[in-house]
Amino acid sequence: MTGSCRGHPATPDWRDQAACAGEDPEIFFPVSDLAAPGTEASLARAVCRRCAVLIACRTWALEHGEDDGIWGATTAAQRRAIRRATMEPPNTHTKGRHGD
Ligand code: SF4
Repeated sequence: MTGSCRGHPATPDWRDQAACAGEDPEIFFPVSDLAAPGTEASLARAVCRRCAVLIACRTWALEHGEDDGIWGATTAAQRRAIRRATMEPPNTHTKGRHGD
């Protein structure tokens, strides 16, 4: 298994269906997050888009705070944006003067 799946400590079932198996792992850890046509990131994302486990992979990366590489057709910057957009808002309730 290659790509973003490389180095995973365990191998849940969804990873057995990874389309990145056999692909060049380097494209899944591009130097740049830019996904313009012809870049490594765009090549990796093209593999992901034909992957049967794209959603499981992306969910895993989001839930585990994976902040490097291409996972589920998303770049690290895209996953940070998703996490920011879906995080619980901070608790703005302030306690009263006496803590109640
Ligand atoms: S979505 Fe992409 S990184 Fe994830 S398992 Fe599939 S091909 Fe690999």
